[in-house]
Amino acid sequence: MPKVTAIRCIRTRANGTWTIVKVLTDQPGLYGIGSASDHYHNTTVIHLIEQSLGPRLIGREAGHIEDIWQSTYTSGYWRNGSLLNTALAAIDVALWDIKGKEAGMPLYQLLGGPCRAAVPCYAHAVGEDLPSLEEDVRRYVEEGWPVIRCQLGPYGGGGFLDPAVARRPKNAWPSSQVFDDEAYLENIPAMFAYLRDKLGFGVKLTHDVHEHLRPQVAVTLAKLLEPYRLFFLEDALSPEQIAYFRLIRQQCTTPQAMGELFVNPHEWLPLIQERLIDFIRCRISKVGGITQAQKIAHLCEWFGVHTAWQEGGDNDPVNLAAAMHLDLASWNFGIQEENHFRPEELEVFPGHPVLERGYLYANDAPGLGVDLDEDKAAKLLDPEKASRIFYMAEDRRADGTVVRP
Ligand SMILES: [Mg+2]
Repeated sequence: MPKVTAIRCIRTRANGTWTIVKVLTDQPGLYGIGSASDHYHNTTVIHLIEQSLGPRLIGREAGHIEDIWQSTYTSGYWRNGSLLNTALAAIDVALWDIKGKEAGMPLYQLLGGPCRAAVPCYAHAVGEDLPSLEEDVRRYVEEGWPVIRCQLGPYGGGGFLDPAVARRPKNAWPSSQVFDDEAYLENIPAMFAYLRDKLGFGVKLTHDVHEHLRPQVAVTLAKLLEPYRLFFLEDALSPEQIAYFRLIRQQCTTPQAMGELFVNPHEWLPLIQERLIDFIRCRISKVGGITQAQKIAHLCEWFGVHTAWQEGGDNDPVNLAAAMHLDLASWNFGIQEENHFRPEELEVFPGHPVLERGYLYANDAPGLGVDLDEDKAAKLLDPEKASRIFYMAEDRRADGTVVRP
């Protein structure tokens, strides 16, 4: 049985926000990779893996995945934090990659075998106004995408006012835009009225609120959107306000998707057990990897909740591959969020999942099926861009109060 000999991190993408973990073993050529990417705290996660979690795993059996997960999870006594979960997930996925390679099977076979031929994904349609959004949605429909997310510009779009017309205090802080809950409440139902009028009900549509609203406004929005029969409404509430999902359920049938910010079982357990959401949206790397995510998927099955693992802009192809294998092997899979990478980024990851006309396709290679070309990874990294620090964009209300994303 292979034993772990080294664990190291490789940073890539031009801005350095992708971190790939490599777990090496004592068997020649046998290693696994996992995603340790954190857009905002990338070097902190690297330190955690290389200086803290990694050294205690040297010499351990690489195949003891569950035992390594459980003992690493509590190795720092405190647990369930975003960064610790990311570090744990990276190691976990790399160990699954190793096990698949040992077995000579793609991961979806080890996880129970495929339940579907390929993985349907949802596209991200965006427009600054309704006609341009409609055009973008139509483009994705023609390309064959099964589900399309509709946004009026960036997150919070539809809720922004020009500071010149917003009712701001005389000593207002400088701001290029003002977020207003009531504007959002006006514009997003109008957006779906427009899209349904133009496109009919044959197209499956979603919308991401990105937690911008006051909780009671989120309840109202879900209710107002009911006639437009969304595939789901995403992140209507922030993680701190999930108890309001009970009110949403009492008020309407708009399907709810939630979980991309979740890191703690106590966040997703009540929503699943009480059937308050319809899609669980955790990011594989933020809940502790395949080991934890598969348990979430199995739990959800018995409560009628489907999976819709989070991807989006800052994820890397290795995290996407981990999600794809779970998608293929989970009966209660719902939909997969798309990710789009530049050709030069995909060249770093030979065997990466292939996205074609709204479907994601796995290969038959053992393990994750995706590898890391370290030379190309190093060349892709731009040291100047990678030295920058990234922060989440700040949206603020008229009086300057920050909006919680
Ligand atoms: Mg979201």
